[in-house]
Amino acid sequence: MTPAPGPRSRRLWRRANRSLAGGVDSPVRSFRAVGGTPVFFARGRGAYLWDVDGRRYLDLVGSWGASILGNTPPAVREAITRAASEAVSFGAPSPREHELAEAIRAACPEIEQLRFVSSGTEAVMSAVRLARGATGRELVVKFAGGYHGHADGLLARAGSGVSTLALPDSAGVPPAVTALTRVLPYNDPEALARLLEREGERVAAVVVEPVAANMGLVPPRPGFLRAISTLVHRHGALVIADEVITGFRLRRGTVHASLGLDADLVTLGKVIGGGLPVGAYGGRRRLLRHLAPLGPVYQAGTLSGNPIAMAAGRATLDQLVPETYRRLERLGAALEEGLAAAAEQERLSPFTVQRVGSLLGTFFAAGPVIDAAGAERSDRRRYARYFHAALDGGVYLPPSALETTFVSAATTPGDLARAIPAVRAGMRAARGGGRR
Ligand SMILES: *Cc1c(COP(=O)(O)O)cnc(C)c1O
Repeated sequence: MTPAPGPRSRRLWRRANRSLAGGVDSPVRSFRAVGGTPVFFARGRGAYLWDVDGRRYLDLVGSWGASILGNTPPAVREAITRAASEAVSFGAPSPREHELAEAIRAACPEIEQLRFVSSGTEAVMSAVRLARGATGRELVVKFAGGYHGHADGLLARAGSGVSTLALPDSAGVPPAVTALTRVLPYNDPEALARLLEREGERVAAVVVEPVAANMGLVPPRPGFLRAISTLVHRHGALVIADEVITGFRLRRGTVHASLGLDADLVTLGKVIGGGLPVGAYGGRRRLLRHLAPLGPVYQAGTLSGNPIAMAAGRATLDQLVPETYRRLERLGAALEEGLAAAAEQERLSPFTVQRVGSLLGTFFAAGPVIDAAGAERSDRRRYARYFHAALDGGVYLPPSALETTFVSAATTPGDLARAIPAVRAGMRAARGGGRR
């Protein structure tokens, strides 16, 4: 096959750079992390995407997990069309909000009440504000490698030297803001215990991805999540389970409780919008009562609860039955086996695949990877060559080494089997060097 992207994508990339900062609306899309110029997409159906040059790709990104049913599922498309024929926006209450809220509550017993926003970023930012307002405390604790959206206080990484002090991860975030953030290693309950000993009475909340899915895919070690809720609650702080990726992705509902985490607040996004901009945060009524108009914690949104987005989310959740998750598990296992076998045949080493359900992390590093330090040992240059050779062979992987690979329910075992030659070519390129 000829290398991607084709001539139309290249032309669009020049045009995009004239109008859009860096040519994109979200940095990872620019291919900066893997080199080259991005592919521009024209159409998506089921497990596949077509670019503007007419090339077809097996989609293993799925809009970063939002497209759990695959691209443009008929039921979701119909729900969007029907909703749009009634109204595009109200900026006022409509029953579509309760329809999605009730579907979420029925699947998540810990969510007595919730509020819709328009992104995962807003959901986590608002949940942190609510936790601070409810506890009257200031500090927030996160884990290195956890991504919780781009709100200032959460764009922080562990500083060197004093391991827990947070440094801004972005220009424009004042150190005075991240001074209220603490960053700890994932899967290290002792580090959390030590921090809480020191300043537990100042901690409002600990934010955690119950399965870390923004540094490749890093499962929690046995006991880690249970230790978090025990320690945090002992110090009178709150636990925020960030399930923006994992919620409704690994099972119908949230996954933290089944992994031992007792959360006070939960954030959702991605899947619950079915590809439209939706986030949500929720929990016990006694906490949500602190939100305006009932309480003093302010949070608002012009397009929050948008009727088209609510309809897309509801139609998506309606399709997520137990068989969907059994299917996603089988597909995830098949892809994991395919990757491991291909790596073996190509004598690619070090190489590690980690998987939970339909989420996979591929590391060009020795495993198991348990934290950000381990994930960062993955060879990014190898990943970039792997990515580009797979792309040339018609497989769209995440364009960054530390992102998760997602399988959608529209995929068939045959689709995965047909993708393996491209994946093997990627591994060959990764091992051997090549055009990049
Ligand atoms: C994607 C993501 C976010 C941010 O969601 P956006 O909709 O991109 O703002 C927050 N937390 C986690 C765990 C995510 O994966």
